This record gives sequence, structure tokens and C-alpha cells, in this order.
Amino acid sequence: MKIKAAIVKKPSDPFVIEEVDLDEPRDNEILVRIKGCGLCHTDLSGQHAYLPVKFPGVFGHEGAGVVEKVGKLVKKVMPGDHVAMSYISCGTCGPCIKGHPTHCDNFFPFNFFGTRPDGSTYMKQGSQTVYGSFFGQSSFATYAIASERNVVKVPKDVPVEMLGPLGCALQTGVGGVFYSLQVKPGSSIAIFGGTGSVGVSAIMAAVVSGATKIIVVSRSDEKMQNTKQFGATHLVNSGKCDPVEEIRKITGGGADYSLECTAIPEILSQAVDCLCMGGKCGLIGAAPMGVRASLDMQSILNGRTITGIVEGDAISDILLPVMIDLYKQGRMPFDKMIKYYPFEKINDAVADVEKGRTLKAILKFD
Ligand SMILES: [Zn+2]
Ligand SMILES: [Zn+2]
Repeated sequence: MKIKAAIVKKPSDPFVIEEVDLDEPRDNEILVRIKGCGLCHTDLSGQHAYLPVKFPGVFGHEGAGVVEKVGKLVKKVMPGDHVAMSYISCGTCGPCIKGHPTHCDNFFPFNFFGTRPDGSTYMKQGSQTVYGSFFGQSSFATYAIASERNVVKVPKDVPVEMLGPLGCALQTGVGGVFYSLQVKPGSSIAIFGGTGSVGVSAIMAAVVSGATKIIVVSRSDEKMQNTKQFGATHLVNSGKCDPVEEIRKITGGGADYSLECTAIPEILSQAVDCLCMGGKCGLIGAAPMGVRASLDMQSILNGRTITGIVEGDAISDILLPVMIDLYKQGRMPFDKMIKYYPFEKINDAVADVEKGRTLKAILKFD
């Protein structure tokens, strides 16, 4: 069938919306008509080839929409169901079997290599192969092919176009707090780079978890002010003070938890140094391969731990419905993060996201 997709022809080219031929879904695949797709920094990492992707390629991994067609082996959803999509995992490797699909041994090939797991492709322009399967979806398009591993059925009483970011940005921040750090009631958490969509998701999750000191660290007073509406209790401008000292003052000795969302090595050191003894730091910021950070070994000796976080260590089928419940109850107001752009304006959305003018851009499809 003919679809429209935002294609990046070669590394760092802008997105161009063009017609593409999409194959029929296979027996184990699901065809989804996209209603909305969030724009995440990982899409831009794909665009600029910071990930092992192929070109011409179609990105987009926070897609949500309506099931149009299913292959005959699909049991999870039916045509007409509303779905949100997330990362894909193999389901058969050690980490997947142990219930940690975010640590899937096949995460890179399945999510980034531009093909199905068996190496085949399903999009073409004339004789030219167009690489899709980004996060098992490539949702910067009017239709996407997904599978039972990365599709989550969602209720119809919430606008489906707003639900795509639950599958990545929200899942990462919220899952990071719920599952990776397991933030306890009455605790303190410092979120470095807490003004972006992942950081703000972590703030909302920390509120739900009952944390009573939710400290946002950033260099922008304006952006930090904006996080108060989501539940930030303390704002620390790291350009104006020593954030480690300031967090020790606020918490009376050190934070129970910290999150590093900037991918800057010096900030990872701060996120560890600001912890109380036995405190836990979650690393979310994705630095390029080979970037090393320096840590005070004494600081870690005192029972502090650092854990890496991908997609919030979440099983999407479990966490997405939880976040939708919390949203409906007014306890996770992620709609306040969203700005919609027509699909055609994808490059404007990219510019706004790159300049930090939009917390969460969602491309909307007619
Ligand atoms: Zn796996
Ligand atoms: Zn993402």
C-alpha cells in the first residue's frame, strides 16, 4: 500500500515527507494507522547517525494509533483497537526471560538496524529500499508495521494521539523511579537535567511514589520554574552554586536517590557525590560510545550504587496502563508537557525540541 513517511535520505539531512510503498503485514505483524507520534532525542540521534541506523531511513518510536490490520497469528489486538507502541525485544534471550526486556541481548539489532529481526525490509521507493523497523515501528509515517512484542492496547476514553510518548520518554522517567530506583515514601531525589520530558516524567513519578524532596538541577531558572507544576519542590541552578553542596543542605546530608539525565560525565560525578551514604544514582543520559566519567572511589565505597536505565527497566504492557490510570486520576498530568504539530511540520518540531522550546512535541496525523 502507499503511505506517507518522513524520510531522512542521508545522515543529518532534514526529514522529507514522501510517498513510500509499504508491504502487507506478515502473519505475526500488526498494521497501525498512526494518529500521533512523539518526537524524542533518540530520533535525532538516528537522523544524525549517532546510532547504527541505515539510510534512507524512517524514524519515530513514540507512535500511537488504531490497528488497521493484523496477521493471522496475532492474538493480542484486533482491527479497531487503540494502541501505543514502545521498544521491541526478542523475548527469548536471558534478560528477556528473566523479565528485563529493556536489557535484551538483541536490543541494538532489533531497534536500530533498520530491518526486521530476520534482516528483511518492508518499505520501498521504486527500487530503492527504505529502512524502517526503528524501535520495531518507524512511526513518522501514516502507517507503521509493529508486532505483539511492542504494541500495547490502550483504552478508548483517552485521546490516542497523546499516548505515544508513554512508550519512551514517560516510560523511561517513570519506570526509572518506580522500578530502577524504587523510590520510597518520604525520601529525597535529585534530578539532574530534570527540565526535559524524561526528567519531568521522573518528577511526576516521584510525587506518586511519595518522595517529599524532589530537587531539580539545571542551569535554566525559567525551565526549572516550569517543573513546579509537575511536583518539583526545590530548584537548584547549577550555574550559580555548587549543586552537590546545595543538595546536601536541602536534604540534611545527601539525597536518597539521584537521576542523571544529561549524558555529561561531570554531572554523573555530581549525581553520585550528592547522595547520602547508601544512596542510589540512576544513569539515564545516553552518552556516545566510549565516553568515560571519573568518580570518587571513596564516595562509592560508602554503599552508594549507580544503575544504568534504559526505557525505565519497564515492561510496557504493565507500565503503560498504570500511567494511563494515573493520568485519568489527575496524578500524572503529562498532557501539560505536550505541544502538537501537524505531521507536515516535523522539521519545525525538531527545531523546537533542539532549542528546548517544547517539552514534548507530538506530530499529529489526520
Ligand atoms: Zn531479548
Ligand atoms: Zn525515545
